[in-house]
Amino acid sequence: MIWDPYYECMDLEQRRELQLRRLRDMVARLAVNVPYYTQAFAEIDFQPADLRSLDDMARLPFVDKHALRDNYPLGLLAVPESEVVRIHASSGTTGQPIIVGYTAEDINTWSETIARTLCCSGGTRHDILQIAYGYGLFTGGLGLHYGGERLGCMVIPMSAGNTAKQLMMMRDLKTTILACTPSYALTLADAMAEEGMTKEDLSLRSGVFGAEVWSESARQAVEEMLGLSAHDIYGLTEIIGPGVSAECEVKGTMHVFDDHFYPEIINPVTGESLPAGEKGELVFTSMTKRAFPVLRFRTRDLSALHYEPCACGRTHVRMERITGRTDDMLIIRGVNVFPSQIEEVLGQVEGVAPHYQLVLTREGRLDALEVRVEVSPEIFSDTVRGLEDVQQEIADRLHHVLGIRAKVTLVEPKSIERSVGKAKRIIDLREGK
Ligand code: ADP
Ligand code: ZN
Repeated sequence: MIWDPYYECMDLEQRRELQLRRLRDMVARLAVNVPYYTQAFAEIDFQPADLRSLDDMARLPFVDKHALRDNYPLGLLAVPESEVVRIHASSGTTGQPIIVGYTAEDINTWSETIARTLCCSGGTRHDILQIAYGYGLFTGGLGLHYGGERLGCMVIPMSAGNTAKQLMMMRDLKTTILACTPSYALTLADAMAEEGMTKEDLSLRSGVFGAEVWSESARQAVEEMLGLSAHDIYGLTEIIGPGVSAECEVKGTMHVFDDHFYPEIINPVTGESLPAGEKGELVFTSMTKRAFPVLRFRTRDLSALHYEPCACGRTHVRMERITGRTDDMLIIRGVNVFPSQIEEVLGQVEGVAPHYQLVLTREGRLDALEVRVEVSPEIFSDTVRGLEDVQQEIADRLHHVLGIRAKVTLVEPKSIERSVGKAKRIIDLREGK
């Protein structure tokens, strides 16, 4: 089911007109209501009326995390504080949190985009939605919650953690859709085996997983272990939270709800706009947000945009799975490496569990990488295929795909700390980095 066919299947030309209209309105509001933008526009001698076509967007300045931090906590609000009905904050993965506000209308928009997200994964009002994203300042829990209610699901507000209880509720209430981070989905799947539960004891049909980078092999593992269809969902606090884009049944790319969020791809080094299909940094402009709109926000997330139609009938532009953040990029002996590439390689090796950590150290003046990965219990006790073989295979594949030599350490099943939210994959022990 498509939640809002009028906006989701709109003719492309018509959507471009809508975008221009909404962007012009947004820019005019920013110019009048937010001193930061008034000044930024004055600096480049830009008047809201100068925005005549979507191409003019490229003239406007970017906003990045630093600008948001400099205006901490509420300096970029575009409405009086009395109109704000909710506060959230980014999880601070990369530093001090960013505080964002929502008006009642913003909460409504968000509920709509989450209802769309759930429909993308096949959800209907008959579904039983278990939310194991954290509730609180993090946008995952409450974001999914309001959208689930909007769709009319039976919502189970579990929040993250308390794994045994999650499984009990999942079984007893016959949960059909699971919402959590992909790494917590793996944690749940492992725990299920320990409790002697199988996927047949559960009624799961689909999962909406996001908030962190994950791979195709993690998808397969989660689908197989939990017996569901796993969908990638994307969002970030600065833009609204989850509900910025979602993967439909076609899979492979996510539909960006581009009647609310205007996406662009830029070269992360030069800031130059890149054409469709090219990989670069995602930039979003809010078109309908009231309390906390942002102009050309640099996400640091790497993706590419595709405008060709999708078989599902939605005409929203599609974005590729996020392969990493620009600030996640490791430079190992001069080679650029993203953790997601390592995850992909590990996923191809038989007997290796999808739990890993990357440890960075400095040897002399060079960076060194250690890949710690869990092996499956079978491999651990297998005498035929020695652990050394597995270790060698991983090292060779990493060398072949990435061109670097990494130290590979195989660790016992369940020895890498499990996460309930975003997994901590990188341990950086380099001094003075
Ligand atoms: P923080 O930036 O502090 O982690 P958020 O909780 O707002 O704050 O997280 C948003 C970020 O999470 C995104 O910018 C992106 O890096 C990551 N993210 C969200 N959804 C996905 C996804 N489906 N795939 C990969 N990364 C994602
Ligand atoms: Zn589609």
